[in-house]
Amino acid sequence: MNYHDFTMNKAHNLYIHVPFCMSKCNYCAFYSFACKSPDWTEYANKICNELRFWSQKLGKINVPTIFFGGGTPSLMPVSIFEQIMNSINQNFKVDENCEITLESNPGTIDKDKLLGFVSNGVNRLSVGVQSLNDEELKFLGRRHDVKTAINLLETAQNMNLRVNADFIYGLPNQKTANVVNLCENINKLGLSHVSMYELTIEKNTPFGKMNLNMPDNEKMAKMYDAIPQILSLPRYEVSNYAASGNECRHNLNVWSGAAYIGIGKGAAGRVYFDNTWFEQRGNFECFEKMSDDTRATEKVITGMRTMRGVKLSEDVKKQLDFDWINSHKDLVEIDGEYLHTTDKGLLILDDIIVDIIK
Ligand code: SF4
Repeated sequence: MNYHDFTMNKAHNLYIHVPFCMSKCNYCAFYSFACKSPDWTEYANKICNELRFWSQKLGKINVPTIFFGGGTPSLMPVSIFEQIMNSINQNFKVDENCEITLESNPGTIDKDKLLGFVSNGVNRLSVGVQSLNDEELKFLGRRHDVKTAINLLETAQNMNLRVNADFIYGLPNQKTANVVNLCENINKLGLSHVSMYELTIEKNTPFGKMNLNMPDNEKMAKMYDAIPQILSLPRYEVSNYAASGNECRHNLNVWSGAAYIGIGKGAAGRVYFDNTWFEQRGNFECFEKMSDDTRATEKVITGMRTMRGVKLSEDVKKQLDFDWINSHKDLVEIDGEYLHTTDKGLLILDDIIVDIIK
């Protein structure tokens, strides 16, 4: 893992939001629209304007990672992706080994289209698989079946891309045995990165309006506990599992407190200039000063979600209650320069974060 001090070399990671989807999934509260034929030219022009704006503000800074998230970025025509990548290359210094991730949904991208993205720089594909059971996929409101998802994973693996698959567990009436079975089947896919998200029911979604028989907290905790026992990949963040060296660098950078620019209306960022942190929203005029204390507190919150923990830099130490930390060694541990939770602490992470911050 490579952690840089981004405030020193001014590098910023880029997150580019693509808000369009073929249809809305039943659980989805993300900022995305069901739109079968978006105005891609208008979209790309807006993105390129934002990129220019930030290049003028920050200079031709280094870009270590780029993440196209959504929505469904794989819906984008390759020519539009190329236009955006050209703009990034004109406005910034993209690192030679830059990690460029594209989020995708099965059924929106075939081999040729994937090759088009790859020839324009994509080296990591994240696939919304969500379940390995066709009935569950239907229930979730997904448009694809298991076979299509597995074909996409294999196509990407055969191209030597780094591949992630997203899954959802904790569906109504699910038991630990279902999650064990899911993890056993995931192991057969030979993936080097997997994200496992607990189903949460959000208001204003179709699921939010249904009276679903969700597993209670205790059952959910048992399912969560079962995942690392079965999955062949180690957990490196609350919801993320990867073979060593295959962690998502973009997210690791963001979680460790590095600077990043959010481009596109649904995106958020943390940008750094004039010795100051700014909370930033996609749509280029939107950024607001943050105090160093607030920024350091954010680093604690995101850093503690990683198994490595939060780096005990001077700004972070100022936020922490070391009396509490030293008297709760069953829940948190200091390991060299990092503070992290124990296995027991991980299960009550939200409470711990409240307690360790002064
Ligand atoms: S594909 Fe993803 S972003 Fe789009 S509606 Fe489904 S869950 Fe939401």
